[in-house]
Amino acid sequence: MKVVDIRTHLLEHRLDTAFESASMRFDRRAHVLVEVICDDGTVGWGECLGPAKPNAAIVEAYKGFIIGQNPLETEKIWAVCYNALRDQGQRGLTVTALSGIDIALWDIKGKALGVPVSMLLGGRWREKVQAYATGSFKRDGVDRVEDNASEMAGHAAAGFDRMKVKIGFGVEEDLRVIRAVREAIGPDRRLMIDANHGYTVAEAVTLGQRAAEYDIDWFEEPVVPEQLSAYREVRARQPIPVAGGETWHTRWGYREPLETRAVDIIQPDLCGVGGISEAKKIADLATLYGIRLVPHVWGTGVQIAAALQFMAAMVPDPVRSNPVEPIMEFDRTHNPFRQAVITTPIEHDNGWVSIPNAPGLGIEINRDALRDFAMKEV
Ligand SMILES: [Mg+2]
Repeated sequence: MKVVDIRTHLLEHRLDTAFESASMRFDRRAHVLVEVICDDGTVGWGECLGPAKPNAAIVEAYKGFIIGQNPLETEKIWAVCYNALRDQGQRGLTVTALSGIDIALWDIKGKALGVPVSMLLGGRWREKVQAYATGSFKRDGVDRVEDNASEMAGHAAAGFDRMKVKIGFGVEEDLRVIRAVREAIGPDRRLMIDANHGYTVAEAVTLGQRAAEYDIDWFEEPVVPEQLSAYREVRARQPIPVAGGETWHTRWGYREPLETRAVDIIQPDLCGVGGISEAKKIADLATLYGIRLVPHVWGTGVQIAAALQFMAAMVPDPVRSNPVEPIMEFDRTHNPFRQAVITTPIEHDNGWVSIPNAPGLGIEINRDALRDFAMKEV
C-alpha cells in the first residue's frame, strides 16, 4: 500500500452576521480538509486548524516526503515530515498542516485494517460522550448581555447540560454576561468561560475572583498562550480552575505547561497539536501529572469525527467506577458546511454525541458539499 496523491480542499462561507472572540473577528468560516489517496483506492481524510490557505500551502510542501510511502507507517511519516521543517517549524502552521495529514493517515489505517481509529488507539471505553455547547461570541449590532443569555438558554432547552461563553471584552461587561447566563440556564447546569487570551494577569485575576460565585467549571485561555508564568499566576491567585492549550503544539510544546502545572485542564486540538499521533502522546503525558484533558474542537465533521475517535479511547485516570469522563466541545456558531461535508451528520441527542464505529474515522465525505462550499478566491 502506497500513498499516490495528497489534495487539499479549501472551504468557505461568508457570514451574514460577523462575530468576535476577544482575539479574532469572524466574517466568514474557512477550513481546509486534507485528502490522502492510496494506490489501492483507499482514501483518508484529515483537517487542519487555523488559516486555510497557509495550511494548504504547507501540506503541499510535505507532499514530496509522503508520496510513495506506506500510509500505515504513521510514526515514521510524522517524524520525517516534522524533521523536514523542524529548524523553522517547531510550532505553528508547520504542525497544524502536519496534523491534517496525520489524521488522514490514521483514517486510512483504520480502513485498511477494518476497525475504527479508537480500536487502533487501544480500545473504546465509551460509545458516546457528553457534549458542551460553545457559543456566545460577541455579535455585531446586538446587546451582548441579552444575546449571550438568550443563546445559552436555547442550548439548555436543546438538552445541553454544559456550556461555555466567550469573555475577554472587559471585566465589568463580562461579569454582567456571566451573571445573566447563569440566571438564564439555572443553578445546576455546568458553565465555563473562555477569554481567548484577551486579558492581562491583573484583569484575569479580578475576573476570576468575582466570577467564582457563579459556579464556573473552568476559565479558559485567560492570558496569551506564550506566557506560561502568567498562567501559573492566574491559577494561583483566583479560585476557578484554569484551562488552555488549543495553540500549544506537539509534546514539546506541552512539556512545560504540564511539568509546571500551568493549567488544571489541557485542551489540545487534534487538528493543530500534531494530529492523532501527537495527541495520544500528550494524553499519556497528562496522566503523569493528573491533569485533565478536554480536546479543543473547532472545525468540520472531519475534525468532530477525529475527536470522537480519540475520546472513545481516552483512558479514565484513575480507572474507577465513577470516572471523570471526557467531554466534547460542540461548536454552536453558524457554519453551514460543518456537517454538510459528511454524509451522515454528527449531531447531539439531548447533549450527548454517539461515537461512530465504522472503520477509520467512521465517516463518509460528501463531495457535493466540497464543491458547494469551495473557496472562491483560491
Ligand atoms: Mg478556546
